[in-house]
Amino acid sequence: MEELQYQIDLLNAMNQKLSSNLEMYQKICEMSKNTYVYCDFVRNKIDVMGQFQQYFPFQLSSIADLEHILEYVKEEYVEQLRNVICLEYRTVDKDEVECCLIKGGVWLHFETVVVRDVQGKPQSKIVRIMDISQTKRQKEELKYLAYYDVMTGMYNRNYFISILSKWIEKAKEEKDIIGLICIDIDDFKKISDGMGLVIGDELLQVFGQYLKEFSSDEIMVARANNDVFYMAIYAPFGSNSVEKICEKINKRLEEPFRLTQNREIFLTVCMGIALYPESTQSAVELLNCAEIITLQAKMAGKNTIRYFETPVLEEFKEMIEIENQLKTAILNNQFELFFQPQFEAEGRKLRGVEALIRWWDESGHMVSPAVFIPIAEESGMIVSIGDWVIEEAVRIYSEWKEKFDCDFVLSINISAIQYRKPDFVPNLIKILKKYNVDARAIELEITESVLIKDFVEVVRQLRVLKDYGIKISLDDFGTGFSSLSYLKGLPIDTLKIDKSFVDSVLEDQSTQVITEAIVSMVKKLGYETVAEGVETEEQYQYLRNIECDNIQGYLLGKPMPAKDLEQVIAKNMNQD
Ligand code: C2E
Ligand code: CA
Ligand code: CA
Repeated sequence: MEELQYQIDLLNAMNQKLSSNLEMYQKICEMSKNTYVYCDFVRNKIDVMGQFQQYFPFQLSSIADLEHILEYVKEEYVEQLRNVICLEYRTVDKDEVECCLIKGGVWLHFETVVVRDVQGKPQSKIVRIMDISQTKRQKEELKYLAYYDVMTGMYNRNYFISILSKWIEKAKEEKDIIGLICIDIDDFKKISDGMGLVIGDELLQVFGQYLKEFSSDEIMVARANNDVFYMAIYAPFGSNSVEKICEKINKRLEEPFRLTQNREIFLTVCMGIALYPESTQSAVELLNCAEIITLQAKMAGKNTIRYFETPVLEEFKEMIEIENQLKTAILNNQFELFFQPQFEAEGRKLRGVEALIRWWDESGHMVSPAVFIPIAEESGMIVSIGDWVIEEAVRIYSEWKEKFDCDFVLSINISAIQYRKPDFVPNLIKILKKYNVDARAIELEITESVLIKDFVEVVRQLRVLKDYGIKISLDDFGTGFSSLSYLKGLPIDTLKIDKSFVDSVLEDQSTQVITEAIVSMVKKLGYETVAEGVETEEQYQYLRNIECDNIQGYLLGKPMPAKDLEQVIAKNMNQD
């Protein structure tokens, strides 16, 4: 009897321990957000631990009830899930699946482990159900960030490339064509600088939204970066032809884009077009081709469309090559200044010299400044090159002054980018002081491109220069958008009549009329004139007759090294 009591007490104690263990496991399950289902095949029993009913509104009373879980899972996962949790005699002992529930966007991970007896017969099965909704969401977000542009919700460059690569594979097999348009908004920086970043961003969104309307099975759009978008067209024919689509876009741009607060903005774009397989064979290269040609379109002006052709790539490679070589040229000081004399038309007295840069590349060839200056401007290297030109020109001039006590003008070409640097004027003044050169001997040659941006600010700075006594010369007059009327308000001293006028002035009646009008108007405004590129005595006599003040050109002197120019100075002094 005592023995029995002992057995009962022992069982009770074990029971108590078991139920407190069960409670503990239950708690652990809840905390870990896992649910465990234990199926005992031997006793045909099922036990559940954890928050099963949070996901499924029924109780698991028998092993067969597992089937009901399938009713709450999205259709596409049902079969897989059935394999993992319902089949009793499974070929694998461990299996798993991720499914999404019909309601609430909940993601669950089901994992099953089967335990067998020595004969291999299944004894029991544990199904672990884990809520993975949060990790799924994070993964989705990461995927979104990896594939999409957050600002516009369009594909990003990387994702676009990966799909484009697949398209190209398909096009290779099916002998199809793919058109790629790179769309770059004109003056976007101006818009976002002028109207604020927020409006700039909104504009990108609205424009991106517009481009997205083109999306279809054959058309894919993406935002590449900043204000550049891509559009790929599979088999671009008929209404999907590249021409038709460009036309459509341009037509749309005739209307403004509407932003919040009733803002309306008109846009223009440059478009560069490359074609698979004509331009190139790979996705990345196709984008490169389209981007290069867009860059060229932009250089040609706003609202321009260009098609990629192979020579463009050659030119571009050459440009990159020159850009790289320029970097070493700056470090190794491979530049030299030449000087070209300018003479007074009446009496041929030396009026001044124009400093013109020369560059001998690694192989000793001279690269024309007409080739490398635009590249240096594009890459910003013109600033350090220009600084060198100023200092070197002033240094040489100070030597001549020492040697000849001369007072002619030193003309230095200044690029717009250089001029826009805030420390441009103070640096120039510093150099003049360093070499003890009078500011009144200096003339800066600027082109109209300087004036295009922020006219008021440029004019203010020109006035500062003039206050120092520095002269300003407007170079290449007549090649840009020059109009005689805007000359009036400009604080300039000299106007250079471009070589293109001089070239045709003797043959072409209308050039004659314009040239004479320019000279007489400029005289009235009180500016000096210099005609450049004068190559023949006839041109010279004509220009002298219409009272052009000064003459520069091969006829009277080519650009030459400083040493050679000394002879010109000496000869001129003897004439005095
Ligand atoms: P630019 O300022 O219009 O310079 C005049 C160009 O015409 C020079 O070419 C000069 O050699 C050339 N030239 C002068 N007279 C004649 C002539 O009678 N016949 C012919 N056929 N050509 C003549 P260059 O030296 O090759 O310079 C080309 C351009 O490069 C310059 O045009 C200027 O825009 C730029 N450049 C040259 N040096 C510098 C510099 O130091 N800084 C900057 N920013 N630009 C420079
Ligand atoms: Ca010049
Ligand atoms: Ca010129």
